[in-house]
Amino acid sequence: MKEIILCKYGEIALKGLNKSTFESMMIKTIKRRLASAGEFRVTKSQSTLYVEPLGDEPDVDEFENRLSKIFGIVKLCRSGAVEKDIKAICEKAPEYLADVLEGARTFKVNARRSDKKFPLKSPEICAELGGAILEKFPHLEVDVHEPQVTVTVEVREDYAFIHSDPVDGAGGIPVGSSGHAMLLLSGGIDSPVAGYMMARRGAVVEAIHFEAPPYTSDRARMKVEKLAELMTAYCGDIKFFCVPFTEIQLKLRANCPEELFTILMRRLMMEIAQRICEKEDDIQALITGESLGQVASQTMYAMVCTDAACRMPVFRPCVGLDKAEIIEIARKIGTFETSILPYEDCCTVFTPKHPKTRPSLEEVEKAQASFDFEPYIKEAVEGTTVRLIKHI
Ligand code: ATP
Ligand code: MG
Repeated sequence: MKEIILCKYGEIALKGLNKSTFESMMIKTIKRRLASAGEFRVTKSQSTLYVEPLGDEPDVDEFENRLSKIFGIVKLCRSGAVEKDIKAICEKAPEYLADVLEGARTFKVNARRSDKKFPLKSPEICAELGGAILEKFPHLEVDVHEPQVTVTVEVREDYAFIHSDPVDGAGGIPVGSSGHAMLLLSGGIDSPVAGYMMARRGAVVEAIHFEAPPYTSDRARMKVEKLAELMTAYCGDIKFFCVPFTEIQLKLRANCPEELFTILMRRLMMEIAQRICEKEDDIQALITGESLGQVASQTMYAMVCTDAACRMPVFRPCVGLDKAEIIEIARKIGTFETSILPYEDCCTVFTPKHPKTRPSLEEVEKAQASFDFEPYIKEAVEGTTVRLIKHI
């Protein structure tokens, strides 16, 4: 049977956003992300986008999988498309939903008719189809209050769509609807999650990574690139900036108090990231994976010192999450397994033994001013490489 995926975007998502802008953004994203899955058609009607895989044997699973990662889609209904005829509906629906119906004890039918010319009214459709299902699956009982399965028939313009309970989409709002930000991406668990969370709220996300060869290896960088690639399933294409950070770290180690390394390093990272953003077109904010109190450099004192080095706003969507909650998201989005591979991060290579958890801004600024980092900052910015990581 021909299958179509109905993508529903709740009205909540439309608040504050112009509906047609929202829809065309979604359609554009869908076209881009599904392009390599095969031919398909996408149309819209009544707050629903219809994605219709075309060709002889389309890989509908793959289409569904990709759609489940597109922000703005709240529910997905993989549906059988049947001709708008009650006989055909009663014959094809039990067949199409046989797997779910066989595994259930109770069900109900829910009918919606946006085509008011259809000869049967909704309650009549329910009665007819309910009867047909009971005939094919005599073990079932109707339960209109708490059914295990709800069979829905939506009689729309071209077809009657049949589906069981919808599955959750990625939620959020479409990427591109709320600005453009640069994620400081390490090889750890938290920063990919932070990027995902901001993209879910509509931000276009680029990534910047600081490496310290030869203290960090090519493999470590490739791991971070892999993380960025995994993120593209949700975020779309990502520009990946890689900054040579070794010189700065060596100068830091030679010239500044060890207990302030991490915080100074973070401030210098922020400075470089901002200069690169300024060279780019319209990047408005930075994103980090910091979580309050997780490590010494993430106490509020430390964050105050970091932010003082920032002209741009810094978003930290993981700030109020426990590690376990961050891990849960990392697992869900498929970055966790890559994040836990062993690697050297430029931070871990130069970690002080006793980092200060309550640095004062005054001492941090004084320490930073005691050495002229400017030429090294310039050099790092100039030596930064950029690569476009295309969505998978
Ligand atoms: P993560 O799991 O994201 O690595 P973390 O808990 O290990 O975070 P830190 O290593 O203290 O925490 O880093 C805090 C944040 O600083 C990271 O979430 C990331 O945004 C940024 N960061 C750290 N190291 C790098 C790096 N080498 N390149 C880019 N950003 C980095
Ligand atoms: Mg880290």
